[in-house]
Amino acid sequence: MRFDYKTQVLVVGAGSAGVAAAIAAARNGAETMLIERSGFVGGISSTLPWLGYHDQEYRQVVKGLGQEFIDDLIDANQAVAPCYDPKCGSTFSLNFHYWKILAMRKLTSAGVNVLLHALYVDTVREGDRLAGVIIETKSGRQKIEAEVIIDCSGDGDVAARGGVSWEKGRTKDGLVQAPTLVFSFSNIDRAELVEACKNPDLNYREWLEPYPEIRKKFVAQLDTLPSFVFGGFASLIEKARAQDGIEFPQSRVVGVKLHKEDEFMVVMTRVLGLDPTDARSLSDSYVKLYEQVEQIMVFFREWVPGFREAELKEIAPILGIRESRRIMGDYLLNKEDVMAGRRFDDGVSMGGYHIDIHRPSGSWVESYNVKTYSIPIRSLIARDVDNLLMAGKCISATHEAIASTRVIPICIGQGQAVGTAAAIAVAAKKSVRDVSVPGLQDRLIEQGAELGQSLGEPNYEAIDRFGQLPHVEDESTSGEGDEVTQGAWLEKKSL
Ligand SMILES: Cc1cc2nc3c(=O)[nH]c(=O)nc-3n(C[C@H](O)[C@H](O)[C@H](O)COP(=O)(O)OP(=O)(O)OC[C@H]3O[C@@H](n4cnc5c(N)ncnc54)[C@H](O)[C@@H]3O)c2cc1C
Repeated sequence: MRFDYKTQVLVVGAGSAGVAAAIAAARNGAETMLIERSGFVGGISSTLPWLGYHDQEYRQVVKGLGQEFIDDLIDANQAVAPCYDPKCGSTFSLNFHYWKILAMRKLTSAGVNVLLHALYVDTVREGDRLAGVIIETKSGRQKIEAEVIIDCSGDGDVAARGGVSWEKGRTKDGLVQAPTLVFSFSNIDRAELVEACKNPDLNYREWLEPYPEIRKKFVAQLDTLPSFVFGGFASLIEKARAQDGIEFPQSRVVGVKLHKEDEFMVVMTRVLGLDPTDARSLSDSYVKLYEQVEQIMVFFREWVPGFREAELKEIAPILGIRESRRIMGDYLLNKEDVMAGRRFDDGVSMGGYHIDIHRPSGSWVESYNVKTYSIPIRSLIARDVDNLLMAGKCISATHEAIASTRVIPICIGQGQAVGTAAAIAVAAKKSVRDVSVPGLQDRLIEQGAELGQSLGEPNYEAIDRFGQLPHVEDESTSGEGDEVTQGAWLEKKSL
């Protein structure tokens, strides 16, 4: 077979995981190519603030490249330092467009060959090896030969078409977490919004309701906290439903107050039953989602304090898919590992974000707190073949575990780990499975990654200021049986 490109490491998909993987592979000496179907790099990380740099004891669990991105964004005055949060650890609010510039600059200065508008379409498999991939571009169908491939497509595309095992959705019915098309507002009145958050009846942060002391501490920070997460105001939605006959896709106001004084990110559209690997299902969902954006905008302006004059700033250029195919690797990370904070001998990155399942049916979320855990390299090496690694939301983890590992900083940590492993494998002319784990861990630590060596004690000062949730909380079933509808209301209330 004639190949149009030849590279040592090929990364498919330029989301947070793919960007980190490609930079790490190139910096560690491998000739690296990154292909991406869109006209920008960053994937979903260029549409959302980044949650989960810190664990629930406010210790930073992702460093290395993750820290470098924070530093560069702050130095360029395009972000503020992560803001602590008792449930999510921290929120890092940034200028998403600047992140695209920065990521592209870092890729090219590391020497990565970036090919945009390049849609991966097929895998070339030879026995136990993946020889390369086929892409469709404006230049026609092209073939790329690679020694190691890293699947960062988020959908496990390379694995699925290469005959590698995968799973999708929850075990009982295969349904994936609800996807969301996010959008943002500008021109909101921050002071009015913060006042409303202080009103216990509105229950701005529902997670904190059972813990009045934590709630008091956290709400006291809101006057000065540049960015904070939202999940509450359920009563406003109920009233809007009762009074205006509103039909609504979400039962809570969900979103993030961004670091820009007048900006707010809305994370409330949702479509149930979507199959992220089915083109018809994806396309049909956009029809519903754009209608929901308008419904939700009207709701905010009429019902949510501080939004009367709000303007639609931006609708994300891509639908946010929380969960798709999960590639089966040498180890399947599970809920118990994550909740117990298991540290693996072959851990190559870390996580401490709660299990955050946006319910595949009903509304709202199902959540379990976690202890800081490590992610073993075995969960990043695809089973069945010799030279396929993965990072990001398609790693080898269960439906529940992926709901913790999927946040952006944790995807960056995995990306750095597999990019480095790929470069070591190529240099040593070995299978990715035969890379020395202590050697890989030493290299990652040298390059600033956190593998537990510098985690330290819980951050008691932050615990004192922001409060700490108990490890085991009562299971919330609210939202489980919700009938979620949308539609006719818009005819009465359009913008
Ligand atoms: C609605 C929503 C809200 C979220 N909120 C937050 C949040 O506030 N903070 C947070 O930290 N995390 C959040 N998450 C989780 C997090 O954003 C994602 O899990 C994470 O960004 C996944 O990164 P990734 O690199 O694995 O995938 P993606 O960012 O999806 O990147 C995959 C890339 O692969 C490309 N690609 C896919 N298929 C192909 C192909 N066939 N050929 C070529 N390229 C391809 C895509 O275009 C994309 O650029 C949210 C997720 C969603 C969906």
